[in-house]
Amino acid sequence: MAIAFDVLASVWAMVSEMEVVGDSPRLTLMVYVALLGAVVLVTSLPSAAWSTFVIEKRFGFFTGSIWLWLGDTAKSAVVAGVIGLPLALALDAALAWGSTSGSAYLYAWAVLVSASVVLLFAHPRLIAPCFNTFTPASDALLARITTVANKAGFPLGEVMVMDGSRMSNHSNAYMYGMCSAKRIVLFDTLLDQVDQDGVVAILGHEMGHYVLGHTWWNLIIVQAYALGFLYAFSQAMAWPGLVEAFGFGFGFGADGSAGDLPPHLIRLVVFSFLAVPVDAAVSLGMHMLSRKFEYDADAYAVDLGLDLVPPLQALHRENKSMSDPHPLYSAYHYTHPPVTERVAAIKARMEARGRKTQ
Ligand SMILES: [Zn+2]
Repeated sequence: MAIAFDVLASVWAMVSEMEVVGDSPRLTLMVYVALLGAVVLVTSLPSAAWSTFVIEKRFGFFTGSIWLWLGDTAKSAVVAGVIGLPLALALDAALAWGSTSGSAYLYAWAVLVSASVVLLFAHPRLIAPCFNTFTPASDALLARITTVANKAGFPLGEVMVMDGSRMSNHSNAYMYGMCSAKRIVLFDTLLDQVDQDGVVAILGHEMGHYVLGHTWWNLIIVQAYALGFLYAFSQAMAWPGLVEAFGFGFGFGADGSAGDLPPHLIRLVVFSFLAVPVDAAVSLGMHMLSRKFEYDADAYAVDLGLDLVPPLQALHRENKSMSDPHPLYSAYHYTHPPVTERVAAIKARMEARGRKTQ
């Protein structure tokens, strides 16, 4: 849609002529990014509302109210603006600054890496508490998780329970923190759907991802891809045809050189459309690797003496996920193997260790 209707170029033409932005290129770019963000938000609202109030509600997942949903949507837009606008300006400045020395891709990559590190620290402390309430896990659960963490050599920080049930019955658990003192977050819905043995087994699997180095591999691959993408962009960013194809009109100098190209950031956005087929190939490879990591983490949990079969089956039932998808569909879309295949692999490994699932 954005490509077909030249949305990027039309909004840029509109913003460039606004009196309020005057001669300030930075302000023009900020207004442009904010306006594009508003266009994306408004056009995505109908499908987001449909998936929440029709599909999620029909299957009994949605537990919130329209006011809660609207409040969260508004908060997300503010958070996206507070993070996105400075990041957009910093990226544009880095690309412009580096373009003279041929190091634009390195500067832009440094901005992205710095933003990721800042977000890693800001998310649990500043962003997540805007949406949910976090309370420490019970002493009994914490004691059991600590035992497994010690066995796995996992640097456990705090274990928190999040009120995921305020909006949805879907259950989840995640952990973060790159080095020491990792924080584990459990959705309250997970504690309702799975018993304590199951929660500990799921966390044994998550610790497996850390101990086996999966977290680092994912980080390295994503950052290497970002660097490669930025390098490819830096080779094409001065080429007028890149933006012309997306409806940007601009004059040429008397000597035949290009006139005013739009800011580097806009050219980067345009280039990202061209990279969609490459993204698809990369995501296919990442999903294959991710499914291998899932089997490895399952095996790790088995070797810790845990039984993942009951919690996996319970979560599969509660979240109504597909048990037997078409192999081609799951090969492309799934980050996790289908539950039937995971359970079969876990049972085989348990049997090889002389154990049986409950
Ligand atoms: Zn996993």
